[in-house]
Amino acid sequence: MKTEWYQHPTRVIQTNLQVRDTARIEPQRLAGQIKSLGANALVFNLGGIYAWYDSQVEGHHVNEFLPAGRDLVAEVIAACHAQNIRFIARFDFSKIHDEAYLQHPDWVARDQTGSPRLIGAERPGGWSLLYHTCMQSPWRNEAGGAQVLREAVSRYDFDGLFYNAPFPTDCWCDRCRSRYEQLYQNPMPDDANDFDPSWRSEQMRDNALLLRKAVKDEKPDLPIILYYWDEQIRYLDQPVAELICDESQNILSRGRSRLSADWTPMVRMQLCQAAQPDYRPFGIIHSSPGMDWRHTGLPPAEYQYWLSQVPAAGGSLWHSLTGIPDTILDQRILHSVRIVNAKAKQVESLMETASPYTEAGLLWDGRPQDHGWLQALSDAHIPYTLLQQEIVSHRQLEACQVVIVPSGFTWSPHLIEAIDGYVRQGGHLITEGRLPDTSDTLRELSGLHASQVQSEPLTAAYLRLEPTGHALIPSAFNEVELLPLRGSVTYARADRADCLATLVPSFAPLEAVGAPPERASLPASRTKIPLITRNQAGSGQVISLLFSLSDLINEFGLHDHLVLAEQLIRSQINRPLVHVSRQPGIQMTVFRCRDAYLLHLINGIGKRPLSYLNPVRVTIDLPGLAADRIKARLVFTDQPLAVSDRDGSASLTVELPDAWQAIEMNQID
Ligand SMILES: [Zn+2]
Repeated sequence: MKTEWYQHPTRVIQTNLQVRDTARIEPQRLAGQIKSLGANALVFNLGGIYAWYDSQVEGHHVNEFLPAGRDLVAEVIAACHAQNIRFIARFDFSKIHDEAYLQHPDWVARDQTGSPRLIGAERPGGWSLLYHTCMQSPWRNEAGGAQVLREAVSRYDFDGLFYNAPFPTDCWCDRCRSRYEQLYQNPMPDDANDFDPSWRSEQMRDNALLLRKAVKDEKPDLPIILYYWDEQIRYLDQPVAELICDESQNILSRGRSRLSADWTPMVRMQLCQAAQPDYRPFGIIHSSPGMDWRHTGLPPAEYQYWLSQVPAAGGSLWHSLTGIPDTILDQRILHSVRIVNAKAKQVESLMETASPYTEAGLLWDGRPQDHGWLQALSDAHIPYTLLQQEIVSHRQLEACQVVIVPSGFTWSPHLIEAIDGYVRQGGHLITEGRLPDTSDTLRELSGLHASQVQSEPLTAAYLRLEPTGHALIPSAFNEVELLPLRGSVTYARADRADCLATLVPSFAPLEAVGAPPERASLPASRTKIPLITRNQAGSGQVISLLFSLSDLINEFGLHDHLVLAEQLIRSQINRPLVHVSRQPGIQMTVFRCRDAYLLHLINGIGKRPLSYLNPVRVTIDLPGLAADRIKARLVFTDQPLAVSDRDGSASLTVELPDAWQAIEMNQID
């Protein structure tokens, strides 16, 4: 039985308060606004850079705009609790004011030359100077963080606490230098990119444990929320927080060529859930198109598209706004918050007991090749899960009908062993690129000869689908003989494996591909050099790609490359649950909840950043399930959905009028 509030789906609003607006905060009114926006938790500033109460901790700068003779924090907490809204206290120990620096110069971070690291030194407007603090300093630890937390936790009845900017600032002070040298037996490098990969995590862990103890000594049950960081699964051997949060930034101010990938919020939520499976992660979405433009809102269509991905991927929505509703300058932001919160609330009872349903597993390290395969899975609406080799289990592998390992992946011995067992017991595997020389197990699985040679980069080359390949790829390439190929390939001999595709070598160097056309004929239109092979291993099957399809998808994104990836993956899924009509721009997640399936569709059709939510119709086929055995409804309107029969299987047609549609499907016995 789940008893703690944070074990249930939550809708959070964080009001990034500006001290100069302090007088405009009316606790009762604010709590009412948070409720009317559909949230059930408020993140409110308490301490760190500014104390929002009369703190007695030395160096803790009290907000000079606080109302005299009142306790604003206590009033806001009481107002929230009266409306059944949870109050999450925000702390930020990453910076201090100049008056604290003058008294405690050893608290601040130093650059390579030993000079203090300032932030916003050239900022106009009569502000005090702020200094980055050193993670090893007393301020981040006992003298500041721990004391402030003890004071706040013992004084106020809040429901959770959240550290903003909890990560270490790069610092070359003597304390950091000597700790670094002690840990790694090497002097600290001048370039932060050369720091040992564990340095950041070492500092994070020690600091988080110390602050955690300060909190838990006072209130053992108070949940702590900490930012997820990718390396934590490698370096944390004990919990440092109950809950994790993550920001899926959509920074349009970086320019159109640097847009975040379409699926960013979904992927971040999946990674958080893998790292901390016990609780729902928070997905923080900023309302602005960049911090430089934080006083404006994301285009409403783009914003709703981005927000909807968090609950559709199983996360709790956390809205990060600039100010309170009364001071927000783009009031359209509030409409979007209200719309998506209302939908999130409607699916909560189903999501409460839901667990992700998956068909394909993608080994994930966050590299470009992983992105290429993710793009293929996402465009093809194949339910996927991201597998991280540090924490991948046999159970996770067994849940996948096919596992994909992108090129350039660094296989650990543990992973090789797990994959070997998975395939031999009937699992399907797709590997891309050259397999590690050292692994006989993988060579054995692939049915390829151990001797493999990497080619030079090929330019005007092609991939020819062999007749056996056509059997695997039924109709998509019936009228196609060659697919474009570029990049380095692996020359390997297929010992036992079937050959599904072969190499057609470059017909000319790049400077001669266009001229003259009279010389464009292929000097070798057929070879026996395999590029895609299939091998039976135990009860399972291995498809080996001896070129990087993911690089082609990333670089060129040609329809044929995406279709080839989709067909290769689908051919390895024997029991597909759903087949959604191919519409790139639509993303899908599937959950199992009790006897039902819950399917989320996110509509991002159009050119990003989205100006409009383009209504679209999607067909959902359920292969193998008879139409009279399925009952379906649209969750947000509670309308039944007609189930028709298509070639003996159930089929649904769903309209997506806006960013997010959820469909509940029950099987009738
Ligand atoms: Zn330092």
